[in-house]
Amino acid sequence: MKTAFLIKYAEIGIKGKNRYVFEDALMKQIRFALAKTEGNFDVTKEQGRIYVIPGGSYDRDEVIEALKRVFGIAGICPVVIAEDDGFENLARNVVAYMKERHNEEGLSFKVYVRRAKKSYPISSMDAASELGGRILEEMPQLKVDVHHPDVLLSVEIRTDIYIYSEIIPGPGGMPVGTNGKAMLLLSGGIDSPVAGYMIAKRGVQIEAVYFHAPPYTSERAKQKVVDLARLVSRYSGPIRLHIVNFTEIQLYIYDQCPHDELTIIMRRYMMKIAEQIALETGCLGLITGESIGQVASQTIQSLAVTNEVCTLPVFRPVIGFDKQEIVDVAQRIDTFETSIQPYEDCCTIFVAKHPVTKPNLKVIKRSEVKLQEKIGEMLQTAVESAEVITVS
Ligand code: ATP
Ligand code: MG
Repeated sequence: MKTAFLIKYAEIGIKGKNRYVFEDALMKQIRFALAKTEGNFDVTKEQGRIYVIPGGSYDRDEVIEALKRVFGIAGICPVVIAEDDGFENLARNVVAYMKERHNEEGLSFKVYVRRAKKSYPISSMDAASELGGRILEEMPQLKVDVHHPDVLLSVEIRTDIYIYSEIIPGPGGMPVGTNGKAMLLLSGGIDSPVAGYMIAKRGVQIEAVYFHAPPYTSERAKQKVVDLARLVSRYSGPIRLHIVNFTEIQLYIYDQCPHDELTIIMRRYMMKIAEQIALETGCLGLITGESIGQVASQTIQSLAVTNEVCTLPVFRPVIGFDKQEIVDVAQRIDTFETSIQPYEDCCTIFVAKHPVTKPNLKVIKRSEVKLQEKIGEMLQTAVESAEVITVS
């Protein structure tokens, strides 16, 4: 018998036209996730269900791992597909299925039949009780429990018949592409990849920007960010990464402004550049990995001063997380080991010993006046000379 995967997804709020958008985006993301696995797959939709049907050999565990990274999937059910060649054959197939998988002494089960093919000659209720009886006849060590069965055996009668008993939890969320696009400020740290993952989980397509400062930051530090983007793209789909050379701007700020204000001023220019690229590329928001109080530049006063330069909404999904909570997610999504590789970050290079922790917007703006002469042109050059690479 053929094997396949039935994809379950949460249907709340996706009625009518939205439903098609949701399903089509989900199928597209499933295809993207499976493209990297061994084997060919047909991803189809039939009567409100999505199926992944392998054409030829495949690695079951690899496929399940790939599907577990597709947002929008609530559950993955490995199914056996039998031809509809009469009830007697169906009963035989169902008993064989149970014998192979659920043969344990004392196990309780329930048969659930869903009849999508209304022309089938037996009602769902009758088919369920008849199949239950056949299983008990041949496997007397099992028992029926209709309220809390150990095994819920589902039999779906369509053109073919689908038999399954296992639901592997998916990641939940919404399929990427159903909620617009946002620009992730991606550094080599632990927090920003997690932030990108969390927003992608809500169906948002991700584009990313990284600021580097050669020769103060190395080629290896940049490669680490590319690697992180690739790890996030396993969930989000392909990411266009804009790599902005920030050296001139950083040196200019360093020359002109008080050193204890350096980080905050630098962060304001990062946000400005990110927003400009975001607007040019159709992004509807910015994403950062900021968390209240984590460092001097993330006190609530610093966040307010940084935020002041933006007109787009800034999404900060880990804002209320403790470091350990962010680390937990990073480990789960497999970005942690890459994030902790010790390469320099452009923010840390010119950092003052005692940066301001409660910046005053008026004071900061006054300092920025000293940049008036050249900063406009420098920002423009930084945006125009950005290197763009697509990672997937
Ligand atoms: P992360 O672990 O994400 O690097 P962090 O704890 O090091 O964060 P900061 O360095 O203050 O914190 O950066 C705060 C946020 O600003 C980051 O989460 C990221 O979104 C953005 N950011 C910082 N540095 C860069 C950079 N070089 N390129 C792009 N974005 C950056
Ligand atoms: Mg950082």
